[in-house]
Amino acid sequence: MSFNLDSLTRENVKGLSPYSSARDEYVSDGSTMVFLDANENPFENGVNRYPDPQQRGLKAILAEQKGIKEKNILLGNGSDEVLDLLFRAFCEPKQDNIVTLPPTYGMYKVLSGINLVENREVLLTNDFQPNVEGILSTIDSSTKLLFICSPNNPTGNSFSTSIIEKLLTSFNGLVVIDEAYIDFSSEESWTSKLVDYPNLIVTQTLSKAYGMAGIRLGLCIASDEIIAVLNKIKPPYNVNQLTQDKAIERVLDIKGVKEEVAAILTERSNLTEAFKAVSFVETIYPTDANFILAKVDNATLRYNQLLEKGIVVRNRTTQPLCENTLRFTVGTSKENNSVITALKELSK
Ligand SMILES: *Cc1c(COP(=O)(O)O)cnc(C)c1O
Repeated sequence: MSFNLDSLTRENVKGLSPYSSARDEYVSDGSTMVFLDANENPFENGVNRYPDPQQRGLKAILAEQKGIKEKNILLGNGSDEVLDLLFRAFCEPKQDNIVTLPPTYGMYKVLSGINLVENREVLLTNDFQPNVEGILSTIDSSTKLLFICSPNNPTGNSFSTSIIEKLLTSFNGLVVIDEAYIDFSSEESWTSKLVDYPNLIVTQTLSKAYGMAGIRLGLCIASDEIIAVLNKIKPPYNVNQLTQDKAIERVLDIKGVKEEVAAILTERSNLTEAFKAVSFVETIYPTDANFILAKVDNATLRYNQLLEKGIVVRNRTTQPLCENTLRFTVGTSKENNSVITALKELSK
């Protein structure tokens, strides 16, 4: 395999150097320095200063917890910003293409539209695994990014390790593994394989297991070289001070996060058991995430009936391979009990 990051990077991006902000030059170290360089209001209120553009405090904690190096992390305003940066760094509009594997997360397609980059879709197989042959015959010399969502949204399953390895070794572009749900999974994160695959990019988020969807914090974990390219184009203050503070607080409470994840996994099995007793539930798909995809007799009918009972789930019936499916996020036991009660009433 001949991977060459330089040849994948957009011509205009190669020539850029990162914007050097006032806060890049001198980071407050708590000493008695006088900062008159950024036209800030000097009266302290907790957020009167620009935030650290490199989020050093937060990255140090994340790096330690995940067993990676700080220089292999880029943080963004949600993983959605991180994904957008990948398009802007590597995909020439109207020229390059990406490959996505539906049914999957909708943002890849949305971002391809916004960035005017062709989205080539290769359906998953019937057991929701990547179709390796189909993918390999779809990629060409203009394919820059291959998006692999594992565990996959909306199907919930993880992709086979050997299939992902095969794609990493056969494709000379960048393989983006979206691990938004990795903390609910029994599979190991691909971050431990960064040294083996120079074309591997892993994205993660604080929006799901960490319970911080409201602060918008996403991670990109990749080689030094890839992170350096992304740092050239990221907005200098893309992660605000309140987000950095809240994220540090939460990430330090890793025990609390793990307890919540464990509770969600227990609830997930309870919900799965209860679904088995519902007459109109036809298939409950295996899940490695904090949601369950289920095939029912008539998804739109059941969706509307649940809505009437004040329960909002996701109707995935229009997604390929997902006809008549509903996606249920695992809630608190009280919330899940109300779903179960509603389903039992409807199945009478
Ligand atoms: C929820 C989700 C995300 C999270 O995106 P954020 O912008 O970090 O909130 C990313 N990828 C997938 C597949 C998701 O389902």
